[in-house]
Amino acid sequence: MSLHPVRPKILGFISEEVSAWLVALLVLLAGGILTGLLAWATLNQFHSQLRQRFQLLANERYSRIEERFQDQEQRLDGLRRFFANSESVSRAEFDGYTQPLLLRTQAYSFALRVSGAERAAFEQRVRDEGITTFSVRELNTRGELQLAAARDEYVVVVYSQTQSRLGSPLGYDLLAQPLRRSTLERADQLGGLAVSQPMHLVSIEPAYARGVLLVAPVRREGEPKSFGYVMAVISMRQLLADGLPDALHDYLSVRILDLSTNDQHEVLFESTNDPAPSDLSTTRLVRMADHDYQVDISPSEAFLQANHSSVGSVVILGGLLSLLLSALLYVLVSQRQRALRMVELRTQELHEREQELRGTHGQLRGVLNAATQVAIIATDLRGVINTFNPGAEQMLGYHSVEVVGHMTLENLHFPRELITRAAELSARYGKAIPTCQAMLVEGGEVGGHEAREWTLVRKDGSHLPVNMLATPVLDEQGLWVGHLAICIDITERKRVHEALAARDVLLKKLSAHVPGGIYQFKMEFDGRFSVIYASDGIREIYELEPDVLLLNAESIFTRIHPQDVSRVRKSIRASADNLSPWREEYRVQLPERGLRWVRGEATPEELPGGGVLWHGYISDISDLKRVEEELRALSVTDALTGIHNRRYFQERLTTEMARVERGGGELSVIMLDIDHFKRINDQYGHAVGDRVLQAVCERIGHRLRRTDVFCRLGGEEFMVLCPDIDGDHAYMLAVELWQGLRGAPVDVVGVVTASFGIASWRPGEGADSLLLRADSGVYAAKQGGRDRVERQMH
Ligand code: GH3
Ligand code: MG
Ligand code: MG
Repeated sequence: MSLHPVRPKILGFISEEVSAWLVALLVLLAGGILTGLLAWATLNQFHSQLRQRFQLLANERYSRIEERFQDQEQRLDGLRRFFANSESVSRAEFDGYTQPLLLRTQAYSFALRVSGAERAAFEQRVRDEGITTFSVRELNTRGELQLAAARDEYVVVVYSQTQSRLGSPLGYDLLAQPLRRSTLERADQLGGLAVSQPMHLVSIEPAYARGVLLVAPVRREGEPKSFGYVMAVISMRQLLADGLPDALHDYLSVRILDLSTNDQHEVLFESTNDPAPSDLSTTRLVRMADHDYQVDISPSEAFLQANHSSVGSVVILGGLLSLLLSALLYVLVSQRQRALRMVELRTQELHEREQELRGTHGQLRGVLNAATQVAIIATDLRGVINTFNPGAEQMLGYHSVEVVGHMTLENLHFPRELITRAAELSARYGKAIPTCQAMLVEGGEVGGHEAREWTLVRKDGSHLPVNMLATPVLDEQGLWVGHLAICIDITERKRVHEALAARDVLLKKLSAHVPGGIYQFKMEFDGRFSVIYASDGIREIYELEPDVLLLNAESIFTRIHPQDVSRVRKSIRASADNLSPWREEYRVQLPERGLRWVRGEATPEELPGGGVLWHGYISDISDLKRVEEELRALSVTDALTGIHNRRYFQERLTTEMARVERGGGELSVIMLDIDHFKRINDQYGHAVGDRVLQAVCERIGHRLRRTDVFCRLGGEEFMVLCPDIDGDHAYMLAVELWQGLRGAPVDVVGVVTASFGIASWRPGEGADSLLLRADSGVYAAKQGGRDRVERQMH
């Protein structure tokens, strides 16, 4: 369901579904059309204004031309009347009159009619007036003035006032040139002003040389024929261009055509600025004297520039305005659409959030109800309970309706415990902490917000040990709105704890009363050792403190005797590899008790992670070892003489044989047998015989080296095992022994002698063969008469 079924339209009429682009496009289109219309109207108005302005300027220019033409006519007519009304006009008077008139006129001249007969006199008269070079002249074919040919009549320029720097063409005969002549004739016919066809003017600077002559005949009152002519030499260029703005700033382009020649209309004047391409232009005939001139006027480039149309600006402005308007509308429409979409999205989000919140609330309720093993109790700021979940009901025996709004958290606590805690906290913080807050205030213990053990009181009065975590409840703004206490029943945990503690004590006692120590020793999968448990006895075995033992198992190996340590490590490794019981006896070197023998036994157990755990026992066996060694000594000693017995001889012989067989070297044996011992026994008794045996051993033993092994083989037979001695040396030793014995008489019985046999080991020879050879030696000595050393060579 939409939250806004009817939405206001954008700007009152644009439906919000319409694309912002479409609106902008439509506005742009409308703006374009309006701009076009406006531009069209502006263009029309501009054109009519332009025409009006042009017409105004052209009319003004026409008036000015006409005015200048009339001005020329009036001035020349004035000059004519000046001559007509004067008896005679001197050169000075002429100059004085015409000087101020020279504005926009190249020259004013007066030409006198002279007959052929009067020519010479006339020339002389003028010369007399001071113009010494004066003569009547005419233009030759090259356009130069030369002496005129003789004719009936001349019209000779007498006076001339000119702007030209080329001087005056005084003496020039106007009749000599047809164009001038016809103009004079026409003036005479008209009896007034006549204007010539365009011609090349004489004695005029080239820039102005193309022009017309305005001629008026001068006639005296009553005379039928004119006696002379006044002339204005007019350069159209000077006449029209003078006083106009320069070409760049002149708005009009003027052209004056002479219409006198029918076939070809000569251009008399043309503005230096070109006419601009435009449909504006005007043509009018302007009259001077008897002549009509066609004056064409067109607008110049300057005019068009000065009167440019504002259509461009209108189009640009209109276009920009339309663009701005469409952009504005686009922004407006799209922003509104975006805003509406955003509102819709936010509404949707809010809706979803609400659903989520409801779900979360439901879940929370579900959790509260499901947590039957945990008591969840929430209070407001005053401590009054407002949440009491089924777990709390089950643990404390209250129904939530009895508790919520009626009881505080303090009511559920065992009062004596709260009072003690409150006193403890008060002492710690130096201010009174009320009991109602004692369970909420943190004791400053490391970690903070730690669960703490409390005793709660059930409805039936029985006590319930719990682990309670009390935390403040904050609302969304972070304001404190109450407390939340989460309690877990720890009755069972406590019981297990106590049982474990009792077990610990038992173990401690047991291990304390057992000699030696018990331990748990662990080898990690990477070979590192650690001691898991070590009873006090272990500490005594190694003379190591328990913490050193537990922290650094390797310290044990520093106590083991250097000769035993590798054997011990090897056996541990073998036990770990085969999971076979470990059993080892080894020596330890202790700082206090010195060298001790210990025996360790342990059973390995494979750990899931790849290591091995041994449970074992180590005891001190030093006393046992000593007894063992004593027994051993006894077993290889002859009880009567105190020297080694046959068993020991056999053992040593085996060892020495192995040595020489392994690496060569020397080995000799000396065998001796007391001579006629039976007799001694018989003569002096068995006891004396025993003493003789002891005395012989004493005498022989004296002369032996430490390395020689002296054994009693049995009865009165003896054997000396000499390692590292060859046959010669053994012989010398035997001789020494033989002499030593016979040279020192024994008490009671006197001199005792013996027969000696010698044998040295030969490579590849066995023990039996060696002994047999020694025995043979003794036999031979006996045979040879006794009391001698028989060296048995073979
Ligand atoms: P021979 O010169 O040929 O070696 O003569 P013998 O008498 O020394 O040799 P025989 O083997 O006949 O006698 C050895 C005697 O030594 C016999 C035995 O009673 C005596 N005898 C053996 N052991 C002991 C002993 O431990 N103490 C005493 N007193 N006599 C012993
Ligand atoms: Mg014997
Ligand atoms: Mg004997």
